[in-house]
Amino acid sequence: MDTRFPFSPAEVAKVRTVQFGILSPDEIRQMSVVQIEHGETMERGKPKPAGLSDPRLGTIDRKMKCETCMANMAECPGHFGHLELAKPMFHIGFLKTVLAIMRCVCFNCSKILADEEDTRFKQALKIRNPKNRLKRIYDACKSKKKCSGGDDIDVQGQQDSEEPMKKSRGGCGAQQPNITIDGMKMVAEYKAPKKKSDEQEQLPEPVERKQILSAERVLSVLKRISDEDCLLLGLNPKYARPDWMILQVLPIPPPPVRPSVMMDTSSRSEDDLTHQLAMIIRHNENLRRQERNGAPAHIISEFAQLLQFHIATYFDNELPGQPRATQRSGRPIKSICSRLKAKEGRIRGNLMGKRVDFSARTVITPDPTINIDELGVPWSIALNLTYPETVTPYNIERLKELVEYGPHPPPGKTGAKYIIREDGQRLDLRYLKKSSDHHLELGYKAS
Ligand SMILES: [Zn+2]
Ligand SMILES: [Zn+2]
Repeated sequence: MDTRFPFSPAEVAKVRTVQFGILSPDEIRQMSVVQIEHGETMERGKPKPAGLSDPRLGTIDRKMKCETCMANMAECPGHFGHLELAKPMFHIGFLKTVLAIMRCVCFNCSKILADEEDTRFKQALKIRNPKNRLKRIYDACKSKKKCSGGDDIDVQGQQDSEEPMKKSRGGCGAQQPNITIDGMKMVAEYKAPKKKSDEQEQLPEPVERKQILSAERVLSVLKRISDEDCLLLGLNPKYARPDWMILQVLPIPPPPVRPSVMMDTSSRSEDDLTHQLAMIIRHNENLRRQERNGAPAHIISEFAQLLQFHIATYFDNELPGQPRATQRSGRPIKSICSRLKAKEGRIRGNLMGKRVDFSARTVITPDPTINIDELGVPWSIALNLTYPETVTPYNIERLKELVEYGPHPPPGKTGAKYIIREDGQRLDLRYLKKSSDHHLELGYKAS
């Protein structure tokens, strides 16, 4: 038993449900204990306030107490801080989902593009599984080039007729751009307007038919999606509004998650995540300064791209077609993603694989001499794997024999390794040679 945790008088609560979701910007601010403003960790030998090692985030120093919970290093789990981003940024893990949602809703009024009479749309609404529903609604919307609006001028002169219009979801009728992903950018492209034969006036070409969509622009579209449409798209607005998939506030993990290592008394080596967070804070500050100074749009966009790169590689530094973020030495940064995934990662390496007593693994082989419900195990493993069995009147004779054989039984026999007395005392049969020591009593255990 792990006894490092001290007694707590707090009532033990029962977990009733587990709800997954996306943190909203407000939730990130609420769970934060400090707004981080500086990329530096130390200042004159002390943790810098509002820096990446602010003492309110928790302590990794044996001599210091956490300023938030006043616990010491062993007990304080660390507390998140937050960074206000100068501009909204794409979250690389949500980019594909954001693209799918963007293709489902009107670029102008944020309503779902498909009209209610569409059979594919009607069928999609019947699907219970939210994830599958998004896929089906996506299929119903992706070919839509226009928002299903009431004042659709392209419906061959139907405008003047008294006939009620095709039932629509009350969209705006705007032409839809084709939206794609290019690296970490999102691009919107409008089709060239078709020249109408009898129309004399040349429609002016849109100045820029192809435009890069900033996360800011995407955010404004996602924000206007109604709660009803969110549900149709398979997202519960209570737990996962689509606009929360765009980063506006970045949670800053506490130092216990990214501890620095003391190299010697004076120098310390920072964790990769700390290094990358420092880069993010620096580029965020640069972007904010450019905006404050009223720099031209293309300069601001360039600085925003730089910040976007560092935020993306902080999450995942193995993005296809993207350069790696590196340490000063040139070694690629270990991202959050690589901490979790693959065999050596947190999930497969630390959580799923646990070493326990009374288990072993070995090569198993086909063997024509054993039964179909039996398993061949090497002799040495079979002798090593024992299980404690309490002595009862029914098994005492058999257990006595096992104890007599001991840890090195004759060929074809098995033996016990320990006698465990009622008070828990363990007698190792390797060192008990005298048969008088092999005494067994009811209630003892042989193992
Ligand atoms: Zn604490
Ligand atoms: Zn619209």
